[in-house]
Amino acid sequence: MTDLYRVLPEEVDKLVTSMEQPRYRADQLLHMLYNEFPKDISSMRQLPAEMRNALSTAGYTIGSADEVHRVVSEDGQTTKLLLKLGDGTLIETVLMQYRKNKGRPRSTVCVSTQVGCQMGCTFCATGQMGFERNLKAEEIVAQVLHFASVLRERGEHVTNLVFMGMGEPLANYTETIRAVKLLTNARAFGLGQRHITISTVGVMKEIDRLADEDLQIGLAISLHAPNDELRRKLVPTAGPHSVGDLISATRSYFKKTGRRVTLEYALINGVNDSPEIAAELATLLKGNGAHVNLIPVNPTAGGFQRPRWKRITEFERILRESDVNCTVRVEKGSEISAACGQLRTDTAKNL
Ligand code: SAH
Ligand code: SF4
Repeated sequence: MTDLYRVLPEEVDKLVTSMEQPRYRADQLLHMLYNEFPKDISSMRQLPAEMRNALSTAGYTIGSADEVHRVVSEDGQTTKLLLKLGDGTLIETVLMQYRKNKGRPRSTVCVSTQVGCQMGCTFCATGQMGFERNLKAEEIVAQVLHFASVLRERGEHVTNLVFMGMGEPLANYTETIRAVKLLTNARAFGLGQRHITISTVGVMKEIDRLADEDLQIGLAISLHAPNDELRRKLVPTAGPHSVGDLISATRSYFKKTGRRVTLEYALINGVNDSPEIAAELATLLKGNGAHVNLIPVNPTAGGFQRPRWKRITEFERILRESDVNCTVRVEKGSEISAACGQLRTDTAKNL
């Protein structure tokens, strides 16, 4: 069985030719998939019955991703969905909307790439649940399309995409990149590459591979500490020289793609938030050109706490004084457990 939502446009062309159908049927099929969101092949009535039958006979199908639960934050700007995949697996996908004045909102979808995660970061709910499986490209695409159809009912659309849900995208490299290609191809979903960011905890060889893909997507690296000793306490799977390696990766990514890398830093009370650590980070990053995103940690079962606001702004001030570009990310959706690190499917068991 092959899901039609994992077939790239050039592969659709070949498929249509092999079925002895006229070439325009390829565009028609793609248009239907990415604008009408059909649930199965038989409902694609604009295609001739003969072609629909041929697709089914050849083993093509459309997988399911059914919404089983939806939580909306009080301000209405964050929506978390629990989706049930064809094999019963539950995954979470989040929509964050930012409404500036009266214009159309920026609508960012945050997708999961794995069920669970192997990296085991101590402050991350997903990391603490262990690893179940990789998601297929079509299951990543389905998360975006589900929100696209929800938004379309309100006359809105998906404007941005971040790979910051459950899992480590670069540990599921091939399927993640296939999903990116499907979502950015003008004949498929057609989202601008510059509107996509992949966040990684730092799978070194895959960062280099990503830089060579000739994609204009943004990269965010989750650093969390200015030295290896502290970083390994937070990211137990980090290599012995991960901090230095990651900093050089930001440089080479910029050199190859022209895109600056964002460094994410989860600020944890009493762990990595002291003024001394801020100074160490400032020295490490001075002149590097990277942008630091400080994320006051969201509470999870691990007992980690957010620093007080004064300590957060002090950390930020020390970085800025050394000309290190940085912002504090005001988390959205933490009251519905939809913020970073809070995605955990076993909430579903309580439904
Ligand atoms: N695995 C990738 C992408 C998913 S996690 C990565 O680690 O980058 C997305 C972001 O959420 C990462 O920057 C991660 O460090 C952050 N995060 C995880 N748990 C968090 C928590 N409890 N509070 C705040 N940020 C958290
Ligand atoms: Fe995995 Fe990212 Fe969570 Fe670490 S922070 S456990 S890499 S999802």
